[in-house]
Amino acid sequence: MYTDLHTHTKVFSPDAEMSIEELMDTAVKKELSMVAVTEHFEYKNPDPNDNIQTFDLGLYTKTFSSWKERCPSDLDLLMGIEFGYQTHTASEIDEIAGSAPFDIVLLSNHLFRGVDVFYSDVVYKLPVKERHAEYMAKMAEMVEKCNNFDVAAHYDYVNKRNPDSVTNMCYDDCPSEFDRFFEVLIAKEKALEINTSTSYRRNSMPDAKVIDRYLKMGGKLITVSSDSHTKDNLGRLIPEMTDFLKAVGVRELCYFKNRKVNTFSI
Ligand SMILES: [Zn+2]
Ligand SMILES: [Zn+2]
Repeated sequence: MYTDLHTHTKVFSPDAEMSIEELMDTAVKKELSMVAVTEHFEYKNPDPNDNIQTFDLGLYTKTFSSWKERCPSDLDLLMGIEFGYQTHTASEIDEIAGSAPFDIVLLSNHLFRGVDVFYSDVVYKLPVKERHAEYMAKMAEMVEKCNNFDVAAHYDYVNKRNPDSVTNMCYDDCPSEFDRFFEVLIAKEKALEINTSTSYRRNSMPDAKVIDRYLKMGGKLITVSSDSHTKDNLGRLIPEMTDFLKAVGVRELCYFKNRKVNTFSI
């Protein structure tokens, strides 16, 4: 069984191109059993030029019900959200996450020194280890400060648009920051997302040591997701990533439905 638990539609995510019909049709064609729609919710986004902000959660809940009615019976469609974290919005994110009937809540760190990595002119000028340590420390802070979430998304987002196509987010770049991040995730029973978009954009798989360390520290909850904004990327690289994870010792993946975790063997 393949799941894709991080996707965006153009209905609520301004940077997406996929309609809900395209998402549902493509999911069935690609034999995905379950897809979570996780629209961007950038609460108090500091970038005035960024059009990704927030939307009406009542409208989303209502719209999602109508999507569910049109959803093919062989696809499980989950109502999700992706919160963009900032230090001063942690408690508000926790509160908003409880205000709609989500199946799954993703928490993301899109910012580097207050600017989305997509637009930052600072981030790739820094030495690799400094960049990775700083980003991972923020990921650790994010999972420490927030409680009402299910999945910490794309730990390697900082490299998503790295013009240098070789550099990967490696465990050895910042082991103490990785350990701090994993320790909290594991203690709070939240999941680690393996996001295939960094891989398909940059033609590289994650650092096996990252996965190995997470498992050794007792991590059990892993999701695999495409972070698709287009129909072509829906489910992209998920079978290959599942094989990769299997090869580095992962035996189970998980999903969240009604905010409850479920695991399945791979
Ligand atoms: Zn994201
Ligand atoms: Zn996303």
